[in-house]
Amino acid sequence: MARLPPSANTHVNDEGLIYGDDFNDSYFSRDDGLAESRTVFLSGCGLPDAWADRTCFVIGELGFGTGLNILATWDLWRRTRPEGGVLHIVTVEGFLLEADTAKTAHTMWPQLRDLSDQLIAKWPTRAFGPQRIWFPGDGLCITFLIGSCEQALADMSFEADCWFLDGFSPARNPDMWSPGVMAQVARLSAPYARLATYSVAGHVRTGLAQVGFEVKRAPGFGSKRERLEAYRTGASGIVPKRPTSAIVMGGGIAGASICAALRRRGVHVDLFDADPCGTTKASGNPVALIMPRLDRGDTRESRFFRAAYLAALSAYQDMGKDAFEPLGCHEVSGDPDGIARLVNLAADPPLPASHIESLDGVSLLHLKGGIAYPDAVLKHLGQGATHHARAIASLKYDGGWEALDHTGKIMATADMCVIASGPAAGQFSGLGPSLRGRAGQLSWAPVMGALPALPISGGAYGAPFHNRLVFGATFEHCDVSAPAPPVRQSTHVQNRDMLATIASALAAGIDLEKAGGRTSVRATTNDQLPIIGAIEGEGPHKYVLCALGSRGFTSAFLCAEMIAAQACGEPSPVDMAVREALAPDRFAKRAARRPAKRES
Ligand code: SAM
Repeated sequence: MARLPPSANTHVNDEGLIYGDDFNDSYFSRDDGLAESRTVFLSGCGLPDAWADRTCFVIGELGFGTGLNILATWDLWRRTRPEGGVLHIVTVEGFLLEADTAKTAHTMWPQLRDLSDQLIAKWPTRAFGPQRIWFPGDGLCITFLIGSCEQALADMSFEADCWFLDGFSPARNPDMWSPGVMAQVARLSAPYARLATYSVAGHVRTGLAQVGFEVKRAPGFGSKRERLEAYRTGASGIVPKRPTSAIVMGGGIAGASICAALRRRGVHVDLFDADPCGTTKASGNPVALIMPRLDRGDTRESRFFRAAYLAALSAYQDMGKDAFEPLGCHEVSGDPDGIARLVNLAADPPLPASHIESLDGVSLLHLKGGIAYPDAVLKHLGQGATHHARAIASLKYDGGWEALDHTGKIMATADMCVIASGPAAGQFSGLGPSLRGRAGQLSWAPVMGALPALPISGGAYGAPFHNRLVFGATFEHCDVSAPAPPVRQSTHVQNRDMLATIASALAAGIDLEKAGGRTSVRATTNDQLPIIGAIEGEGPHKYVLCALGSRGFTSAFLCAEMIAAQACGEPSPVDMAVREALAPDRFAKRAARRPAKRES
């Protein structure tokens, strides 16, 4: 299977309707797509009444298409949103349209123009897996599952309150209406879920009935005589209380990202960091390179890093140029294996041409990558939190979480807490034995000749910053609780020599006499994946977000979204296997699977 999902083959017919050529069917009704969407899906699912009084409501959709159903839903949600409510739409799409094609289709409905503009500006990327975009002003979150319908659903775990079944007609698009798809829809439905579709085909009705839906015909829209409404008849369970307040320990990129993810859900955050200026932490570096880690295999790791990169780009899009400059990023390699990897990725890329270009046949240009400026990023993400320039000495659960200082005085109380304190996270999460320390020194110096226009990376990296070149960085094993080592001239030399393996002329021009630098200790793990999720123990709603290694400014956004979604009982932004791969209990599970040593 190709690493890139197929694109959509479409044309616009004489009536201005967009047609799917591979399915010989139109994306929406010729009678008026918007009116059809409102009748079939919104009324069919009992909206807006069904979301009245709900703090969180989840809609599943099969067939994102042009996004018209989502625009219609968003328009209704905007007018009827319960106070502080969050609407999640999880939508499956196997053949993503180009943003421009959808934009043209939307011009039929000038009344939706402002919503269309917002959606088009954040249009998802044609890459496999879940992708999420937020419209925080309206409490709307869209998760795109890009891939083949049944598999894309099978990978996920969430509970939908209602469903829009909007594949092309069942006769022309049987994959969207198969018994396997119906079984996944049922698995992912709340016990009382509702479902709507324009099709009344016999096998759609029986398929839904077989998986536990009660099916009812209703008067159709336009030239269609009938449409379908379906219900599950289970009672609504007790909706778990969403947290309204959080204590976050750590003000680096991990803590700041979780702060932003919780704030957009209306959760109040008390953010603690005894070193808010970041003199000791890895997040205090002057620049951070933003580029994807792309692998040849379709592994949980590769899915995580690809999704994390896309989530980071989406987050940076909401910040100014002072926080992120999309200069692009040149990925090269100094060894034959690495070059073979880049050549292989260029031949069958996992991201589309708008993201990746092959340069000289042996390196990649990441067109959307660039440089993040940690200072500005942290300021942006930390907005709206109550900041405490203090250390938490201990966390205690007593019906809620308490942050205590070294005298035992309570500094803050909250419904949930998140340990995001980098190398110090082990002490508060019980995960100390699983954390590994890596001491790193970053260097900067003026160069003779011109600075590169964009960063270059491949093991080592070099990036332009304020008329100097930032280059590095070392990544030496150390105790995770060790203090950062002093800056050494010999390490500047080492960093220069590492850079020379990928950019010899640039490295040769570095004026080491004038070099400066900084060091920090990053937390990482043996499997080089972050640790993300809930920690069982003293009380509920305790989470950890740590071990981001040297990729914090790319990975933290997705990780934070995972935790915020889990804490609020919302759909996760990643598939189940990725969640498991990052879960805090993975180390204990691995240890339990290891055969016990035989007594000699
Ligand atoms: N709801 C859409 C809108 O508002 O514009 C219209 C959806 S259109 C009728 C059906 C969609 O299903 C198309 O976008 C098509 O690419 C997608 N699709 C068809 N077969 C699929 C499959 N096997 N897996 C995932 N998506 C598929």
